[in-house]
Amino acid sequence: MVTDAHAHLDPELPLDGLVKAMDAGGIDRAVLIAAAQRPVGAIGAAGPAFFRGCMAVPPLRMPMYRIARRRLQPLAMPDNDAVYSAARAHPDRFLPFTFLNPALGDRAHEELDKGLANGARGVKLHAWFHEYRLPDAMPLLQRCAQHGLPVLAHLGFGPAEDVTATLDRVPGLKLVVAHAGLPHFERLWHETRVWFDVAAPQLVSGRVVERLLGTVGDGRVLFGSDAPIGIRTSGGHRYTPPHLPDRAMGQNVEALLA
Ligand SMILES: [Zn+2]
Repeated sequence: MVTDAHAHLDPELPLDGLVKAMDAGGIDRAVLIAAAQRPVGAIGAAGPAFFRGCMAVPPLRMPMYRIARRRLQPLAMPDNDAVYSAARAHPDRFLPFTFLNPALGDRAHEELDKGLANGARGVKLHAWFHEYRLPDAMPLLQRCAQHGLPVLAHLGFGPAEDVTATLDRVPGLKLVVAHAGLPHFERLWHETRVWFDVAAPQLVSGRVVERLLGTVGDGRVLFGSDAPIGIRTSGGHRYTPPHLPDRAMGQNVEALLA
């Protein structure tokens, strides 16, 4: 079973289109997450190459990351209901995750309640778009650990050390860090309690995926696409997964969700 551990339900590629792309690409199931931002326009070929080049140079990472964010319009409250109904329509294809924004306080806890009632299989956090440090989400993370829900976190605010501090305080937390640990990358790869997805060729180069596998091994690396943006091609949306060990293509995320 091939499972995409990071896909978004985004107006750019409505549900039927996503299912078709999965069928064509041999993707059995996908973790489904609400869109994190307003639709993103065309990305020129040079942009991602320049971005990845800057990410290879540690002092350039945060400045470049900040510049890239200015082009995006995050949604304060992503539309989880659309994800739950998509998963109900295709229960064998989608694993719904609940997108939470801890900055919303009680509302975030209510969203988590709603997610649990709707069969959510995990939680997505976007610390970068929603501007908080991972330990700031502590009460939500504790609840996720209690319910055995994996948390997929896109980092950005706060140093790499926040990840270790969080896991020290919530030892039972199943934490996946998106995009190979962007923007900290190898500074997180030594943390043996964390899983990593390799989502989005625009953000994670093939070289980074190779180095990640070389350091972490094949047991905690997850194939993820960041569809629809991550599967954009000049000929429409199409999966072209990086070359990964079998475990990373599905078994690891299945173990995480079990
Ligand atoms: Zn995402």
